[in-house]
Amino acid sequence: RTVYVNGDYLPEEEAKISVFDRGFLFADAVYEVTSVLSGKLVDFAAHMKRLERSLSELKMTRPASEADLLAIHRELVARNGIDEGLVYMQVGRGAADRDFLFPPEDTKPSLVLFTQAMGLRDKPAGRTGIKVASVPDLRWGRRDIKTVQLLYPSIAKTEAKAKGADDAWLVEDGMVTEGTSNNAYILTEDGALVTRALSHAILHGITRAAVLRMAKEDGLRIEERSFTLDEAKRAKEAFITSASAFVLPVVEIDGLTLGDGTPGPVARRLREIYLAEAERTAI
Ligand code: PMP
Repeated sequence: RTVYVNGDYLPEEEAKISVFDRGFLFADAVYEVTSVLSGKLVDFAAHMKRLERSLSELKMTRPASEADLLAIHRELVARNGIDEGLVYMQVGRGAADRDFLFPPEDTKPSLVLFTQAMGLRDKPAGRTGIKVASVPDLRWGRRDIKTVQLLYPSIAKTEAKAKGADDAWLVEDGMVTEGTSNNAYILTEDGALVTRALSHAILHGITRAAVLRMAKEDGLRIEERSFTLDEAKRAKEAFITSASAFVLPVVEIDGLTLGDGTPGPVARRLREIYLAEAERTAI
């Protein structure tokens, strides 16, 4: 596989990152994951906009123009022959002598991209749904910035797996924040689609924005508000969204089956609508 590191396209075995890279030492880096359908990038402009925001919140230097980043994404997709899968892009504050203090502003940012070929559209979970288990949300207070500090989400997902679930729903002050790498939704008994409002408590999902727009256009009533785990367990349906999962139905929460244990009609419909538009608008 060919990867991109600081200006070079290299076989993955030859790619090198400095031991002093602040992404490695301090998790001082942000990232984006863009999905690829039929060899094209889904919602690329929105990912760039969020990257811009993450960088500016952390006073990090942009490593290349949006046009250059698009060209690198496309070049890697082409070189690796990706028809379906992901492009991972990480931007870091660069390499500097180890010090908690940010290095001088002229430190060269680091830029790393790689691809992952994988089936996204037809993966079985899209048909069967997934099981989630609740885990306390012990992440830091700026989850709206997409940093590579992913140790706690990794712990939470592993704990959820140990409980027999596929992913965790993180819970803070009795309210669901989001999944370990996705946003969380429920459909209430009276037909409202509920997902947590944007704040520092959750990542502002690119897929969340797209799916809420489509749901509204489809005539669903949207309530952007927090919900408890109990409300979720009583919900008619539940699902998650992310750039790589699209819309995935949730059929079980903490061992409790939702409805008849199969994906609900709203989640299935939104998955279809999202996939059709993603294919149509990918660049
Ligand atoms: N929340 C978290 C914590 C995430 O890591 C992700 C995936 N990056 C999401 C939500 C979903 O965001 P998106 O739809 O942009 O992939």
